[in-house]
Amino acid sequence: MADLIELSSRIIDDGVADEPVNRVTEELSELGDDLAIVESFSHSVVLRTDEGAVAFDASGKKSGIAVTEAIAGWSKLPVTHLVYTHGHIDHVGGSGAFAERWGAPTVVGHENVAPRFDRYEYTNDWNVDINRRQFGGIRQDFGMMAPSTDSATSAMWRHFLPSNALRPDVEVGDHHTLVLGGETIELHHARGETDDHLWAWLPARRAIMAGDFLIWNFPNAGNPQKVQRFPIEWAAAMRAMAAMDPELIVPAHGLPIAGVDRIRTVLHTIADTLDTLVAQVVEMMNGGAKLDEIVHTVRVPDATLALPYLRPL
Ligand SMILES: [Zn+2]
Repeated sequence: MADLIELSSRIIDDGVADEPVNRVTEELSELGDDLAIVESFSHSVVLRTDEGAVAFDASGKKSGIAVTEAIAGWSKLPVTHLVYTHGHIDHVGGSGAFAERWGAPTVVGHENVAPRFDRYEYTNDWNVDINRRQFGGIRQDFGMMAPSTDSATSAMWRHFLPSNALRPDVEVGDHHTLVLGGETIELHHARGETDDHLWAWLPARRAIMAGDFLIWNFPNAGNPQKVQRFPIEWAAAMRAMAAMDPELIVPAHGLPIAGVDRIRTVLHTIADTLDTLVAQVVEMMNGGAKLDEIVHTVRVPDATLALPYLRPL
């Protein structure tokens, strides 16, 4: 249990990521009583209760089976609930493996997840193209396979959203509270990396499941090839999370972080960085600057980009 927390505390306190923080081991580590993480792309975080287990994110298509095996080795009871922090395929692609192992769990996601899935199907080839371009070097981890002469493999590569991905049964608007086996899980919607994001607050544990609001890299808050992302709302969500005074925050990529002060520093630093970036851009826009000038002028300080949880990728 202590290893991941010890690692992240040391790295944050020293300010140097001297070993990998975005690990894809497919191994389960306990983070507390009945709470565990399977490090994958993305992670699956699991809460064990007397009435079944709740998994936050399914990881990708390629890792789904390994992730469910790791969970099954730890939880005697089935995963009865699967919460999507958002509908990106590295978070939902493994859901078919959850259904195969445990029968269809109740899937909880924001109401914009289903429209996202529709869009992925409608623009499938475009999505395969732009994600191959963006994630080419790590597409194995992204849950898609490289193009291959093997027909089954190339079929997988051709489908951006796996055909067996589960759609949400419970569609969340702004808030939703899930109670299972005496555990209360409060789900909060906020826009950030996507328009369909949820973060979870477990009040009894003072713990947050942050999804991709926290990724241990610079926020992927704008991408010219993709749909609109939301840096201002992202910053606000980080401050809302910090205001809960969490003692543990578990991201979908990167290491869990413990300690109220340490978490507050991380969340506020990311929020301030996003706000400053937006303010600089908008000031130049209002001043009549051209896109090209803005791109070549606006900078984040090197010291900020060197922080272990804000490194550009
Ligand atoms: Zn992700």
